[in-house]
Amino acid sequence: MHTSPSSTNAKQTCRLCAGDVSEQFHLTILNQYDITYYQCQACHSLQTEPAYWLAEAYGSNLSNLDTGAVQRNWHNFYVIYLLCHIFKLKNVLDLGGGDGLLCRSLRDYEINCFVKDEYATPTYAQGFTEPNFEDPDLILGFEVWKHLPNPAQDLKRFFSSKPKMLLITTAKYENQGADWWYLTPESGQHIFFYSQEAFGIIAQQYGYELHSIAGFLLFIRKDCASPFKLWLFQKSLRGKLNRLLKYKIMRKPTPGVWNDYLLQKSLQDKESK
Ligand SMILES: [Zn+2]
Repeated sequence: MHTSPSSTNAKQTCRLCAGDVSEQFHLTILNQYDITYYQCQACHSLQTEPAYWLAEAYGSNLSNLDTGAVQRNWHNFYVIYLLCHIFKLKNVLDLGGGDGLLCRSLRDYEINCFVKDEYATPTYAQGFTEPNFEDPDLILGFEVWKHLPNPAQDLKRFFSSKPKMLLITTAKYENQGADWWYLTPESGQHIFFYSQEAFGIIAQQYGYELHSIAGFLLFIRKDCASPFKLWLFQKSLRGKLNRLLKYKIMRKPTPGVWNDYLLQKSLQDKESK
């Protein structure tokens, strides 16, 4: 068992709001490092001590236990599709988009999505990692925020281009204990766990409204808020209407498949000349 370099007397502060933190519990990370988890006294988030083990923690895109990856992709796809159509969002950037399957799915249906991921290869969305727009309308961050070593800095990447909206998933910390399934210390990858207050602080800091909808966090830039469209979006995710819309979307043609093929082909031809 190793002990960490930061388990000395150095005073820790919250990596989101710089508040004072207090020790909550210890866990063994990557089956070898004894790590302290701290709770922030100000924003009430939970965080590991500063993560020095990340290089070891990132091996492959997906854990071999992540058997829900494809179903989750389709669920997210429908939600984004509806959001984009209701709010007329065109340019989408999926930050931390892993293997690019979501990006590809959206492109198939003519949503202009690009993907970026520092730790993964976007196998499904090769050629769509450099956006053809300056300002995204929508930024996606699915299960990404829990990986951020320094949220106060790292969240700027999500908000600095001032997208109209951000759609995020990350489980909320509500004083769960050391046995919370979301901590997954054996992976070493989950290092910051946001409380409801923390989400509120983030929204306020960047000038966004925050809505929790069907397990998603939706940040809407204040000047883009539309109570009617928001109501419609929420309604479209529920019950019979949702089932009907999913069925209709599934039956739509996917012109993006062919359009992107032609685009990539023309780029290849240009390069080979
Ligand atoms: Zn804090």
